[in-house]
Amino acid sequence: MWGMIATWRMAVEGVTKGCEMLKEGGNAGDAIETAVREVEDFPYYKSVGYGGLPNEEMEVELDAAFMDGDTLDVGAVAAIKDYANPVSIARRLSHEKVNSMLVAEGAEKFAHKEGFERKNMLTDRAKAHYRKRVKEIKQQELKPYSGHDTVGMVCLDAHGKMTAATSTSGLFMKKKGRVGDSPIVGSGFYADSKVGGASATGLGEDLMKGCISYEIVRLMKEGMHPQAACELAVTRLDQELKERRGVAGDLSLIAMNTKGEWGVATNIEGFSIAVETEELEPTVYLVTRQEDGHCTFEVASQEWMENYMKTRMAPIEE
Ligand code: ASP
Repeated sequence: MWGMIATWRMAVEGVTKGCEMLKEGGNAGDAIETAVREVEDFPYYKSVGYGGLPNEEMEVELDAAFMDGDTLDVGAVAAIKDYANPVSIARRLSHEKVNSMLVAEGAEKFAHKEGFERKNMLTDRAKAHYRKRVKEIKQQELKPYSGHDTVGMVCLDAHGKMTAATSTSGLFMKKKGRVGDSPIVGSGFYADSKVGGASATGLGEDLMKGCISYEIVRLMKEGMHPQAACELAVTRLDQELKERRGVAGDLSLIAMNTKGEWGVATNIEGFSIAVETEELEPTVYLVTRQEDGHCTFEVASQEWMENYMKTRMAPIEE
């Protein structure tokens, strides 16, 4: 069995491309890197890679990670600027025994030495989003952080290897140097080829409080199906946060196990995922959370898919 699952509809083209490789017997490292790069390269997805939304100072600082479920190798970059494919730099770092997570200038130096492609990641469109948001914040006290989507993926290849990877521009209008859950092992992602993998999107500051991706893998290790593990972990963290702090930020998770079974859970409305397995063609699902924490999902309609692209590509009215 092989398969790949990812957060958000924007991942479906990448998942499809990655799964082409899995079909041919390709390995889960190459497939997931290819899949994430596809999302990073697409300029209209405004929270990952090229075209990603800038921080408070109008700089695009990116976070990304890669984990090999066979060796438990992890590589990550945080707050890296001006490199085209942070996920590839993270994967390259995962081969290092030490110094495998690098931030900002240190990450950029490493990427430069290793010959990774430099690119100005701040697009005119992202600048327009920034100017618009600055205006809105002044006019109506909008929360500066709303509007963020990380791509997080879990992959299983036909040889039984599992990987996880993430890539994000983090929260829109974040402080310079702010790092979310996405490059943090156990929070934004985790993969263990003996069990399965998980990955997160949502409010990094809250996702990290539950080390939630690790928690899901741990629950799967105890025998839970990925769906039950995702639901339990999200419900518990959501409740804990509300009980202790009054509110819980956005928490959305995906997972897959070694059999290619998968699961998803969220505490928000409007979460979507992309999945493909040996038994399932590339599919986008819309996820709905029930009162009791159970999550159901339905295939996104053609109309929904077209609308999604239209809104992503519509001109920005400043
Ligand atoms: N989790 C990401 C972060 O906090 C943002 C997101 O998933 O949308 O940086």
